[in-house]
Amino acid sequence: MVLLALVIVVPRGEAESPDPRNPSIATLDSTSTAGRRTDASDPEGVATPYGYYAEEVLRVASTIPTSLQPALKDTDFVNGCHPWTTKELGHCAFGTFDPAGWDSDDTHGHDWANTIWISSQAVRTGKVPDVVLHEVGHAVVHNLFGNCYFPKQAEMSVKELLLLTFTHGDADPAELLADAFVVAFSTHSDDLHTYYLDESNYEVSREVISKLRAAVWLCSK
Ligand SMILES: [Zn+2]
Repeated sequence: MVLLALVIVVPRGEAESPDPRNPSIATLDSTSTAGRRTDASDPEGVATPYGYYAEEVLRVASTIPTSLQPALKDTDFVNGCHPWTTKELGHCAFGTFDPAGWDSDDTHGHDWANTIWISSQAVRTGKVPDVVLHEVGHAVVHNLFGNCYFPKQAEMSVKELLLLTFTHGDADPAELLADAFVVAFSTHSDDLHTYYLDESNYEVSREVISKLRAAVWLCSK
């Protein structure tokens, strides 16, 4: 199954290019590990082990709601540009969830498997709590929803049902669903950073938010 796992790419921000719809398999320069990767856009070019803004990324990660944390077992946060995503987009994405450690030569199984990457640019925009929640949403869907079923709905997993719920025009349901985690679990009162929902004019109903929260509760047990 790991061969089918996709790197989930999250270009966020108006100037960024569209999300590759079918990220094949990801890459990075094969000589480095997640721990040595740094974001080239670090203002001072400082090569710290986990990126210039590592502390800030970890601080934000520590504010993730308790209810979502069961999905993040063994998930590490990295400040930097994910290699395959960067190659695919031609620039550094705001965030990437990588369940399988994909590198830029389309090999996987590298030691950054099960990581969430947050770029320095994302930190500088001040939107990083929402970018983190979006990526955590991908992790929840990947780690908890695929083999979880609502009562009396044994024919479809929670993941399949929710992706159906978020089928909307040409939009990628997985990205709309990840943005719905921002709506459902954000704790700040600023404008939410929900790039895909905004782009698609998709308004998440209260009913769907309730369903998402119920799914998190059910599938975390
Ligand atoms: Zn995404």
